[in-house]
Amino acid sequence: MPARTVSKAAARQAPRRTVTHLPPAEFRAGAGQWPSDGVLFDRNCTDCPRLANFLAAARKEYPQYYNAPVPPFGDPNARLIIAGLAPGFHGANASSRPFTGDHAGILLYRTLHEFGFATRPESVSADDDLRLIDCRINNSVKCVPPENKPLPIEIQTCNRYLQADLQHAPRHSVIVALGSVAHAATLKALGLKAREYLFAHAAEHRLPAGQVLIDSYHCSRYNTQTRRLTPEMFAAVFRRARALLSAHED
Ligand code: SF4
Repeated sequence: MPARTVSKAAARQAPRRTVTHLPPAEFRAGAGQWPSDGVLFDRNCTDCPRLANFLAAARKEYPQYYNAPVPPFGDPNARLIIAGLAPGFHGANASSRPFTGDHAGILLYRTLHEFGFATRPESVSADDDLRLIDCRINNSVKCVPPENKPLPIEIQTCNRYLQADLQHAPRHSVIVALGSVAHAATLKALGLKAREYLFAHAAEHRLPAGQVLIDSYHCSRYNTQTRRLTPEMFAAVFRRARALLSAHED
């Protein structure tokens, strides 16, 4: 994908000024500073040609950015799993941590902190000291897509990583799907039929393996600024997740 297309796509996603960016992926990998916890994940994956080309162009135009597949963040055995859509260009694609550096992460991390799932209310960079508590964040697609819109084939191709990750989910875990794409990707990763679990904000689905899937509108800039998703609505989702998890504590 031509670099000018990267500029056009990137301009629509304004970065947050507070974020500090890590060195480019090549440097970090060479220095052994890879943040993945080793669960099936390949930072060199180029199985989606369109996304691989987009990242190659992004490396030239934004060499200070991470610009590679973004690994999950948090304990692989966490009982709360958050499934997002894909890295934001100036967010996770820049910082290497999901929902870190763009607007969508503001409400997410603030809410996680409010309900005891994060040690801090703001994720600033991948090397700040924020920790998730019994929580893991993953994306349905690991590479940043142009215009924030992955193609169906890209969601399908990347699903194997989500599938591998969800195999670690404990029996009574709660999965919060942010948006209908993440909802469908989660069901596919678990081998379940989408038509039997319809997406709706705050819908709660009991899954055969004992997990609960809760749907939420995505905490994107568009959804929060149009108030399709309010902080109160988002908090209610995580309050419910906390209650479900608490019900299975000794
Ligand atoms: S989106 Fe997933 S499958 Fe596609 S290239 Fe990136 S890591 Fe690989």
